[in-house]
Amino acid sequence: MMRRRGLIAAASAFVLGIFGLRRATRAAAVFPPSSSVDFESRCIRCLRCAEACPVEAIRVGPVLSLPGSELPVIEAQTRACILCMKCTEVCPTGALSPLSTELVDIREHVKMGLAVLDRKTCLTHTRQALCRLCFEVCPLSGEAIILSGFGQGPAIMASACVGCGRCAEACPSRANAITILPYKGGRA
Ligand code: SF4
Ligand code: SF4
Ligand code: SF4
Repeated sequence: MMRRRGLIAAASAFVLGIFGLRRATRAAAVFPPSSSVDFESRCIRCLRCAEACPVEAIRVGPVLSLPGSELPVIEAQTRACILCMKCTEVCPTGALSPLSTELVDIREHVKMGLAVLDRKTCLTHTRQALCRLCFEVCPLSGEAIILSGFGQGPAIMASACVGCGRCAEACPSRANAITILPYKGGRA
Protein backbone atom coordinates (compact mmCIF):
# COMPACT_ATOMS: atom_id res chain seq x y z
CA MET A 1 0.00 0.00 0.00
CA MET A 2 2.85 2.40 0.87
CA ARG A 3 4.40 1.73 -2.50
CA ARG A 4 1.10 2.51 -4.24
CA ARG A 5 0.69 5.76 -2.28
CA GLY A 6 4.20 6.73 -3.18
CA LEU A 7 3.51 6.06 -6.84
CA ILE A 8 0.32 8.16 -6.76
CA ALA A 9 2.10 11.07 -5.05
CA ALA A 10 4.94 10.84 -7.53
CA ALA A 11 2.50 10.78 -10.43
CA SER A 12 0.73 13.90 -9.11
CA ALA A 13 4.02 15.73 -8.75
CA PHE A 14 4.97 14.69 -12.26
CA VAL A 15 1.70 16.00 -13.71
CA LEU A 16 1.97 19.23 -11.72
CA GLY A 17 5.28 19.75 -13.44
CA ILE A 18 4.07 18.71 -16.88
CA PHE A 19 1.05 20.99 -16.87
CA GLY A 20 2.80 23.87 -15.17
CA LEU A 21 0.33 23.94 -12.32
CA ARG A 22 1.26 25.84 -9.22
CA ARG A 23 0.33 25.31 -5.63
CA ALA A 24 -2.11 27.95 -4.44
CA THR A 25 -1.97 29.73 -1.13
CA ARG A 26 -5.74 30.24 -1.26
CA ALA A 27 -8.61 28.80 -3.23
CA ALA A 28 -7.93 30.04 -6.74
CA ALA A 29 -10.31 30.45 -9.65
CA VAL A 30 -10.14 28.74 -13.03
CA PHE A 31 -11.32 29.71 -16.48
CA PRO A 32 -14.54 28.17 -17.86
CA PRO A 33 -14.24 24.86 -19.73
CA SER A 34 -12.83 24.78 -23.27
CA SER A 35 -11.19 28.19 -22.87
CA SER A 36 -8.72 28.97 -25.63
CA VAL A 37 -5.01 29.46 -24.97
CA ASP A 38 -5.49 33.16 -25.78
CA PHE A 39 -8.62 33.46 -23.63
CA GLU A 40 -7.47 36.75 -22.11
CA SER A 41 -7.32 38.53 -25.45
CA ARG A 42 -10.31 36.81 -27.06
CA CYS A 43 -12.76 37.40 -24.24
CA ILE A 44 -14.62 40.72 -24.67
CA ARG A 45 -16.23 40.53 -21.18
CA CYS A 46 -19.76 40.34 -22.59
CA LEU A 47 -20.61 37.84 -19.82
CA ARG A 48 -22.92 35.77 -21.98
CA CYS A 49 -21.21 32.74 -20.49
CA ALA A 50 -22.13 33.84 -16.97
CA GLU A 51 -25.73 34.46 -17.98
CA ALA A 52 -25.95 31.01 -19.57
CA CYS A 53 -24.55 29.13 -16.59
CA PRO A 54 -27.40 27.30 -14.80
CA VAL A 55 -25.53 27.06 -11.51
CA GLU A 56 -24.11 30.60 -11.46
CA ALA A 57 -20.59 29.23 -11.38
CA ILE A 58 -19.11 32.01 -13.51
CA ARG A 59 -18.36 35.42 -12.07
CA VAL A 60 -16.07 38.25 -13.06
CA GLY A 61 -12.90 38.32 -11.06
CA PRO A 62 -9.29 39.43 -11.01
CA VAL A 63 -6.71 37.23 -12.70
CA LEU A 64 -3.64 36.80 -10.53
CA SER A 65 -1.32 36.22 -13.46
CA LEU A 66 -2.62 39.35 -15.19
CA PRO A 67 -2.59 42.16 -12.61
CA GLY A 68 -5.31 44.73 -13.21
CA SER A 69 -7.38 42.54 -15.52
CA GLU A 70 -10.74 40.96 -14.83
CA LEU A 71 -12.21 38.00 -16.69
CA PRO A 72 -15.00 35.44 -16.31
CA VAL A 73 -13.74 32.85 -13.84
CA ILE A 74 -15.05 29.96 -11.77
CA GLU A 75 -14.22 29.55 -8.09
CA ALA A 76 -14.51 25.81 -8.47
CA GLN A 77 -13.69 25.24 -4.82
CA THR A 78 -16.99 26.69 -3.67
CA ARG A 79 -19.17 26.77 -6.80
CA ALA A 80 -18.29 23.84 -9.00
CA CYS A 81 -18.80 23.55 -12.73
CA ILE A 82 -21.27 20.82 -13.65
CA LEU A 83 -19.80 20.48 -17.17
CA CYS A 84 -23.10 21.25 -18.90
CA MET A 85 -21.17 23.19 -21.59
CA LYS A 86 -23.89 25.82 -21.98
CA CYS A 87 -21.33 28.61 -21.56
CA THR A 88 -19.33 27.26 -24.48
CA GLU A 89 -22.35 27.50 -26.80
CA VAL A 90 -22.94 31.24 -26.38
CA CYS A 91 -19.44 32.69 -26.56
CA PRO A 92 -19.35 35.01 -29.61
CA THR A 93 -15.58 35.26 -29.99
CA GLY A 94 -14.21 31.74 -29.70
CA ALA A 95 -12.71 32.46 -26.28
CA LEU A 96 -14.74 29.39 -25.33
CA SER A 97 -15.21 26.70 -27.99
CA PRO A 98 -18.53 24.82 -28.26
CA LEU A 99 -18.21 21.42 -26.68
CA SER A 100 -20.58 18.50 -26.24
CA THR A 101 -21.29 16.98 -22.85
CA GLU A 102 -19.96 13.60 -23.99
CA LEU A 103 -17.31 12.34 -21.61
CA VAL A 104 -15.04 11.55 -24.51
CA ASP A 105 -15.01 15.27 -25.44
CA ILE A 106 -14.64 16.40 -21.84
CA ARG A 107 -11.69 14.09 -21.33
CA GLU A 108 -9.97 15.41 -24.42
CA HIS A 109 -10.75 19.13 -24.31
CA VAL A 110 -11.35 20.21 -20.69
CA LYS A 111 -8.49 20.97 -18.32
CA MET A 112 -9.56 23.83 -16.08
CA GLY A 113 -7.42 22.82 -13.14
CA LEU A 114 -6.44 19.97 -10.90
CA ALA A 115 -7.84 18.66 -7.64
CA VAL A 116 -5.23 18.08 -4.95
CA LEU A 117 -6.07 15.95 -1.93
CA ASP A 118 -4.70 16.56 1.56
CA ARG A 119 -4.83 13.16 3.24
CA LYS A 120 -4.16 14.73 6.63
CA THR A 121 -7.55 16.46 6.58
CA CYS A 122 -9.58 13.86 4.66
CA LEU A 123 -12.15 12.26 6.98
CA THR A 124 -11.61 8.82 5.50
CA HIS A 125 -7.83 8.84 5.45
CA THR A 126 -7.76 10.09 9.04
CA ARG A 127 -10.40 7.48 9.98
CA GLN A 128 -12.87 10.02 11.35
CA ALA A 129 -15.61 8.80 9.03
CA LEU A 130 -16.20 6.52 6.09
CA CYS A 131 -16.73 9.27 3.54
CA ARG A 132 -16.94 8.72 -0.21
CA LEU A 133 -18.53 11.99 -1.29
CA CYS A 134 -15.74 13.16 -3.58
CA PHE A 135 -15.73 9.81 -5.36
CA GLU A 136 -19.51 9.79 -5.70
CA VAL A 137 -19.87 13.26 -7.21
CA CYS A 138 -16.90 13.20 -9.56
CA PRO A 139 -18.12 13.07 -13.19
CA LEU A 140 -15.06 10.98 -14.00
CA SER A 141 -15.32 8.77 -10.95
CA GLY A 142 -13.09 5.74 -11.27
CA GLU A 143 -10.75 7.68 -13.54
CA ALA A 144 -10.09 11.05 -11.88
CA ILE A 145 -10.77 9.74 -8.37
CA ILE A 146 -10.21 6.17 -7.31
CA LEU A 147 -10.61 4.46 -3.96
CA SER A 148 -7.48 2.67 -2.89
CA GLY A 149 -5.77 0.94 -0.02
CA PHE A 150 -7.02 -0.87 3.04
CA GLY A 151 -9.33 2.00 4.09
CA GLN A 152 -10.54 2.61 0.53
CA GLY A 153 -9.67 6.29 0.79
CA PRO A 154 -9.78 8.56 -2.25
CA ALA A 155 -6.82 9.27 -4.50
CA ILE A 156 -6.77 11.83 -7.30
CA MET A 157 -5.48 10.69 -10.66
CA ALA A 158 -4.07 13.94 -11.95
CA SER A 159 -3.95 13.00 -15.61
CA ALA A 160 -7.73 12.40 -15.71
CA CYS A 161 -8.94 15.24 -13.45
CA VAL A 162 -10.48 18.18 -15.37
CA GLY A 163 -10.66 20.56 -12.39
CA CYS A 164 -14.45 20.93 -12.27
CA GLY A 165 -14.43 21.24 -8.48
CA ARG A 166 -17.31 18.89 -7.78
CA CYS A 167 -15.20 16.94 -5.30
CA ALA A 168 -13.97 20.02 -3.44
CA GLU A 169 -17.45 21.52 -3.25
CA ALA A 170 -18.85 18.29 -1.79
CA CYS A 171 -16.08 17.58 0.69
CA PRO A 172 -17.43 17.87 4.26
CA SER A 173 -14.02 18.23 5.87
CA ARG A 174 -13.87 21.59 7.63
CA ALA A 175 -10.28 21.97 6.55
CA ASN A 176 -11.09 21.55 2.84
CA ALA A 177 -9.34 18.27 2.15
CA ILE A 178 -9.44 19.00 -1.58
CA THR A 179 -8.05 22.13 -3.24
CA ILE A 180 -8.53 23.01 -6.90
CA LEU A 181 -5.35 24.38 -8.45
CA PRO A 182 -5.70 26.45 -11.62
CA TYR A 183 -4.24 25.37 -14.89
CA LYS A 184 -1.41 27.60 -15.99
CA GLY A 185 -2.09 30.16 -18.68
CA GLY A 186 -3.84 33.07 -17.03
CA ARG A 187 -6.05 31.31 -14.58
CA ALA A 188 -6.92 33.44 -11.60
S1 SF4 B 1 -20.04 24.23 -18.26
FE1 SF4 B 1 -22.10 24.74 -17.43
S2 SF4 B 1 -21.80 24.73 -15.18
FE2 SF4 B 1 -19.75 24.85 -16.13
S3 SF4 B 1 -19.29 27.07 -16.18
FE3 SF4 B 1 -20.16 26.49 -18.20
S4 SF4 B 1 -22.38 26.92 -18.01
FE4 SF4 B 1 -21.54 26.87 -15.90
S1 SF4 C 1 -11.35 14.78 -9.20
FE1 SF4 C 1 -13.26 14.64 -10.38
S2 SF4 C 1 -14.67 15.99 -9.27
FE2 SF4 C 1 -12.62 16.51 -8.58
S3 SF4 C 1 -12.01 18.22 -9.89
FE3 SF4 C 1 -11.24 16.33 -10.80
S4 SF4 C 1 -12.78 15.71 -12.29
FE4 SF4 C 1 -13.74 17.20 -10.94
S1 SF4 D 1 -15.14 14.12 0.35
FE1 SF4 D 1 -13.41 14.97 1.52
S2 SF4 D 1 -13.46 13.91 3.51
FE2 SF4 D 1 -14.76 12.75 2.08
S3 SF4 D 1 -13.40 11.16 1.27
FE3 SF4 D 1 -13.34 12.89 -0.18
S4 SF4 D 1 -11.58 14.15 0.49
FE4 SF4 D 1 -12.07 12.73 2.18
